Amino acid sequence: MKQCLLCGQDFIPAISLLQVFSWRQQNKQCICPNCLNKFRLLAEPTCPICSAELSSTKICTDCLTWQKSYGNQLLRNYALYRYNQSFHDLMVNYKRYGDFVLRLALAQLCALPLAKIKADFYVPLPTSPEHLQKRQFDTVMGIYQDVVPLTSLLVTTGGFGAQGEKNRQERLARPQSFSVVDQAKVDLNHHKVLLLDDIYTTGRTLYHARDAILAVFPQAKIESFTICR
Ligand SMILES: [Zn+2]
Ligand SMILES: [Zn+2]
Repeated sequence: MKQCLLCGQDFIPAISLLQVFSWRQQNKQCICPNCLNKFRLLAEPTCPICSAELSSTKICTDCLTWQKSYGNQLLRNYALYRYNQSFHDLMVNYKRYGDFVLRLALAQLCALPLAKIKADFYVPLPTSPEHLQKRQFDTVMGIYQDVVPLTSLLVTTGGFGAQGEKNRQERLARPQSFSVVDQAKVDLNHHKVLLLDDIYTTGRTLYHARDAILAVFPQAKIESFTICR
């Protein structure tokens, strides 16, 4: 019996044939079936570039906008869930109220699909220094640290306030704040890199992160992964 991290109800973790052999996966379940049902996987058709839900199979308006600056060098982003009210509530409790234990719920939501996306380096987008100070933990690393091996390569100067309070235009106008750490001990050239963030909203932060890496490792093959789109 386990207690659901989201609603507090006791539940019996579901056991699939695969999980019978994996005590670790079974033990990682911390969301009850009822709460799990409130999260909605992105449904086809989706944008072939960024995974946004669409009414047709063309590329989405965000990607069309990025095409103006990046041509055919668009960033392939894998995403799993729709950003609905349940997700919003979970993210607010995790990020705004700093409930660190909720990282386990987010990890459960993405662990299995993420394990299928192979990369040489998994690079988390860093939390800004002012948020780190406020929450005492890095929100993106918190989610992914037990899911895939992380290479913390990026730093950010931050200083732009909370993204959640910004409108589209303000997000898109945000200046570059990422750079690669001074003494990067790895060479990303010719390797597959998967950038990790929690939510893809406009794509601005992920494109900035990619720009920062390509400035140092121009031959890196970069894609990205977010839980929500
Ligand atoms: Zn629950
Ligand atoms: Zn798109």
